Amino acid sequence: MRHLPPRPDRRLLVATRSRHKLGELRALLHLPDVELLDLDDVGIAHEVDETARTFRGNAILKARTYAALAGLPTLADDSGLEVDALGGGPGVRTKRYAGENATDAENNAKLLDELDGLPPARRGARYVCVLAYLDPAGAPGSPRPWVVTRSGTLRGRIADGLRGAGGFGYDPLFEPLPEPPGGRTVGQMSADEKNAISHRSRATRAMARHLRTCGW
Ligand code: IMP
Repeated sequence: MRHLPPRPDRRLLVATRSRHKLGELRALLHLPDVELLDLDDVGIAHEVDETARTFRGNAILKARTYAALAGLPTLADDSGLEVDALGGGPGVRTKRYAGENATDAENNAKLLDELDGLPPARRGARYVCVLAYLDPAGAPGSPRPWVVTRSGTLRGRIADGLRGAGGFGYDPLFEPLPEPPGGRTVGQMSADEKNAISHRSRATRAMARHLRTCGW
């Protein structure tokens, strides 16, 4: 794979307001001499409406919008849960599954309700994360903004009850493979254990490999 020379500018915008997510990305990207900024660091208050029909579409929408506002190369992500028995739902509606401002507890309760009575073999699911990188300056020889995406998944199944207080979102319900039915949920794992296997860390490591080839 061809590697570009080091970039002179070392500032990369991460399209989040969560210090936790920024810290997690910093550790996983492992680009020690790059300054990672979040939306608050660059004074952007605008919220993007996630109107695309796919995780990839939403990640690109966010990267495009925030890169244009900041004038900086930008990384944005979108993630969620796809449940086989729900035809891949809730998908891009994962965060709002039980309603516009639903809490994690409400989303989890709705999911348990929808899958009520299904045996473990029919409770398959996966977490998906897509990261989009957009460089407003374009690639060498091409002045057009340039978007690259990388994705990561974590396959598992939805437990028949909540277990564990770690993580966030659907983690107390998500048994990652190869856990057996009734085995540990992500909510029962340490942050390090989750980071070793998560959809987000897989997508981020793949993106880090790409960014290194672009001179970051
Ligand atoms: P977003 O990509 O931060 O908008 O996340 C969308 C939603 O997906 C979150 O609100 C969670 O409900 C769910 N989600 C994404 N990643 C995870 C995870 O690692 N654990 C649990 N839930 C997740």
